[in-house]
Amino acid sequence: MGIRIAERVALCGYLAILAAIVVNLLLPNIARSESPSRTLPNIIFILADDIGYGDFGCYGATKVKTPHIDQLAREGVRFTDAHATASVCTPTRYSFITGQYAFRNPAGDHILSGEAPLSMDAAKPTVASILKKAGYATGQVGKWHLGLGNNDLDYNREIKPGPLEVGFDYAFFFPATGDRVPCVFVENHKVVGLDPNDPIRVSYLKKVGDEPTGLEHPELLVMKAAEGHNNTIVNGIGRIGFMAGGHKARWTDSDMADTLTRKAVAFIERSKEKPFFLYFATHDIHVPRVPHDRYKGSSGCGVRGDAIQEFDGALATVLDALERLKLAEKTLVIVTSDNGGVLEDGYADGSAASANGHRCNGPLRGFKGSLWEGGHREPFIARWPGHIRPGTTSNALIGIVDMLATFAAVAGVDLPPDAGPDSFNALPAILGSSPKTARESLVLQNYNGNGLALRKGPWKFIPARGPGTNGSMPLLFDLKTDIAEATNLAVQKPIIVAEMREELRKIRQGEKSRP
Ligand code: CA
Repeated sequence: MGIRIAERVALCGYLAILAAIVVNLLLPNIARSESPSRTLPNIIFILADDIGYGDFGCYGATKVKTPHIDQLAREGVRFTDAHATASVCTPTRYSFITGQYAFRNPAGDHILSGEAPLSMDAAKPTVASILKKAGYATGQVGKWHLGLGNNDLDYNREIKPGPLEVGFDYAFFFPATGDRVPCVFVENHKVVGLDPNDPIRVSYLKKVGDEPTGLEHPELLVMKAAEGHNNTIVNGIGRIGFMAGGHKARWTDSDMADTLTRKAVAFIERSKEKPFFLYFATHDIHVPRVPHDRYKGSSGCGVRGDAIQEFDGALATVLDALERLKLAEKTLVIVTSDNGGVLEDGYADGSAASANGHRCNGPLRGFKGSLWEGGHREPFIARWPGHIRPGTTSNALIGIVDMLATFAAVAGVDLPPDAGPDSFNALPAILGSSPKTARESLVLQNYNGNGLALRKGPWKFIPARGPGTNGSMPLLFDLKTDIAEATNLAVQKPIIVAEMREELRKIRQGEKSRP
């Protein structure tokens, strides 16, 4: 019996030592899994507005200066075949948040007004809700333009559903675009600085209130406006849509970049103890282009060039904050844009006459709002120290619709079956590991869900008589040899045309395109 007890004691001691060794070996991993903040990188996704493929120095611009963006590219990877999923704002942003092609949802497939209801199903997974569930603090700052409310939007009351209902913990945003009413910021559910004695009224159908419009009083405009941009005048600028009231809440156009950047940095500072995801959607360089005084005339390429340099300055402020907070090493930073470049866009702001040789879309054909490459091929730069090899270039085909699956992969979570039906994980392509490609093909959308094109390998196919295209013939281009889309090869390559037409039909009629 005594021997047995001694044996047991020895055995227990042995087991205790063994257990201690095992625990010690596992402890770092256990600690990591219980405390995501120690291992998960932060994600900052900076989405510029209307920046073209040729607008940054690292993409060939020589006159407009973008030193901080160029530095980011030297420290990370620069993509040459990355695409906004549409040639205008809302559908690209819709696809970013949902991982779904916007053409599948008529509520989010076109440019929305400041009265439109929320364009997505708040119950379905979004890039924000997936990361929130994975332990991230999630913030949205800047342009929203994805609709608000349930057809009951009243800017004087709680504004929801909106960003918070689709997965963001915090939001500071302007509802639609800089050229659309209401010209106010919303923080979470409330208009910032709203005086209840001066309620906001908004209409896109008829004039509200008695403030002058650009149509009635063009002499009051500081910037000549084209039709559609000549409704209510706010800060001397005719807007799309009519608004009344909310005078104390109205933004100052030249301060927009600074205000939004300050809010982005404040979110980073507040969230630094957790892994965080910041979706920073700038107003720059959308119209009306009213950069701060310190950028006026800075580019020598007109107000559009000045706005690009202001965007570069905003990026610098965000990157400085990461350095100051010692977060740069554990943060994936991505910079891209929602659609291609355009010169004058509703206002006679002199952008065309003063471009001074700057080519906003570089060698590409077309502009924002077209299915040509100039409408959707974008700069795309990613930096993640220690993970992405500095100064690299990738020619992988990726789309902004891929960010949902990509960020889920960064966070180490599997996609729920109903999440991101068109989103492919581009992380291996971003990291330069194998496979270097994220996807075989990509659907590109014009300004509504009827205008679609398909990319596959070097080929780009645009169906005949699709809206946004003029011809009665289908178009087929070999982008490897003809990035300017100058030579239509549809007649010479009927088999490729037939295959791509069929693939586009299948993707369009199906419910998802990812595996
Ligand atoms: Ca845009």
